[in-house]
Amino acid sequence: MRLNVPSPLVELASDRIARQHLRLYLKRDDLIHPDLPGNKWRKLKYNLRAAREEGHSTLLTFGGAYSNHIRATAAAGRLFGFATIGVIRGERHLPLNDSLAFAAAQGMRLVYLDRSTYRRKSEPDVIIELHRRFGDFYLLPEGGSNAAAVRGCAELPTEIDQAFDVICCACGTGGTLAGIAAGLRPRQRALGFSALKGGQFLRHEVERLQSETYGTTKGDWAIAYDFHFGGFARRTAVLDEFISEFTDGHGITLDRVYVAKMMYGIFTLAERGEFDKGTRIIAVITG
Ligand SMILES: *Cc1c(COP(=O)(O)O)cnc(C)c1O
Repeated sequence: MRLNVPSPLVELASDRIARQHLRLYLKRDDLIHPDLPGNKWRKLKYNLRAAREEGHSTLLTFGGAYSNHIRATAAAGRLFGFATIGVIRGERHLPLNDSLAFAAAQGMRLVYLDRSTYRRKSEPDVIIELHRRFGDFYLLPEGGSNAAAVRGCAELPTEIDQAFDVICCACGTGGTLAGIAAGLRPRQRALGFSALKGGQFLRHEVERLQSETYGTTKGDWAIAYDFHFGGFARRTAVLDEFISEFTDGHGITLDRVYVAKMMYGIFTLAERGEFDKGTRIIAVITG
């Protein structure tokens, strides 16, 4: 199996960016693998290694019905030879949506937890019950964010030869930002864009994940909370228009849930003059 790592870095030729005397580069993690795009591969890499070293043959993880992490875990299981179990929040709906149909086609066993049990999914009694039903497994948390995931994402900035000042990524659980910020060199900073409404909890999550990984917080980072467009997976006419203009102008179709919101945020902050002239910005295309 071939992974396109280090992923390509390409400069975006954009008048809107050039007019602000900025440079913008895209880190094309979406091109790493068609079924294991972007940050999902980086987050799984050291988890797969740990699962194998600890002798597990099954991965179990959690997610909502539209989770990219569920999709990626299912694909990783097929590609790397693990059985996979996806524990999905809420009731089963048939026919399966595209994400779950894809996961099932990769061989993932889908099981469903009612919402109140799902909320308690990290508690010992729930995990014990899952072990009773499914036997041994390597547990990946919802969204795949843990110390191994943070270490995988910390490799991203070290792959970039181009000098830069700011690196931007979208945030769901904050694991990707926690890693990227930890991998920065001096005088570089990271900026996350929350894809969720009420994403203020992410600051605490990034700190918690970095502490779990390194015993301390790391890097110069911040999060922008105002580019969620109404909430997770919500969209508006303005966002749709931005996405189609971006496709027309650059030939790249932005992921709607995460990447488009980050990119809109970068353009908006640039035009508000939030970046000093000459700032070199990297936008991570996480999927
Ligand atoms: C999962 C995902 C994210 C969010 O990553 P976190 O580590 O959960 O913050 C961002 N972009 C894309 C495309 C994703 O699939």
